[in-house]
Amino acid sequence: MSRKAQAVKLLDEQGRRVDGRLPDEMRPLKIEVGKLKNADGSAYVELGNNKVIAAVYGPREVVPRHEALPDRALLRCRYSMLPFSVAERKSPQPTRREIEISKVVREALAPAIFLEEYPRTAIDVYIHVIEADGGTRTASIIAAATALADAGVAMRDLVAAVAIGKIGEVLVVDINGLEDQYGDGDMPIAMMPQLGEVTLLQADGVFKPEEIKRALEMASKHIRYIHSVQVRALKETYAKVEEGEVVG
Ligand code: ADP
Repeated sequence: MSRKAQAVKLLDEQGRRVDGRLPDEMRPLKIEVGKLKNADGSAYVELGNNKVIAAVYGPREVVPRHEALPDRALLRCRYSMLPFSVAERKSPQPTRREIEISKVVREALAPAIFLEEYPRTAIDVYIHVIEADGGTRTASIIAAATALADAGVAMRDLVAAVAIGKIGEVLVVDINGLEDQYGDGDMPIAMMPQLGEVTLLQADGVFKPEEIKRALEMASKHIRYIHSVQVRALKETYAKVEEGEVVG
């Protein structure tokens, strides 16, 4: 374990993490669907202390028109962290990190969408991080995929994501802000849960090939759970619609 990780004691003698979790334990996950009336689809996600909202508009006309694609929809994603989402005020200007996350979130979602069903249109996904505590890109993917389903966009599968971290030699699931800052590795993984295909795999830190294999197994187990929470949240919303309650 790195000296920094030892100093903040990321793992105690009982193998518990800074927030009391075991290595293979995710933070509590809550998903609410259809909260935004003016979007075609929306989802609010709480993953531990992370609070993220995703809004989907479209498929709709492409502006500017020259960006339209003749054979498929143009998928645009914008991830942004609100100024008050972190302890020290963040400038509202898009940072390089936000531009990078917007790109990886788009690439994690695109394989799941039947973009070819909507030629010459745009599907816009706006993601706002209201509070951040490590894992906002994975929470954003969970929120965005659920919001796309809420918008009725045709999809092969949902997309769910979780980050596997490394503290010393120990792999831990769903790392929080402290573990991200002082830990020894961070591997965000997104998958189409039912198809079992990986749509995002990033890694920061040093992982042995055997650890990568184990990280993927760990992630796919938790992704199956996240998928069940996404499906439950979507079903609850539509049950309310069937009962005649106006949602979103
Ligand atoms: P992710 O949120 O996907 O883990 P990073 O690994 O880049 O993405 O960031 C880890 C965490 O660092 C974020 O979740 C957030 O808690 C914190 N963080 C990121 N950017 C800032 C910032 N500008 N100011 C303070 N904290 C930040």
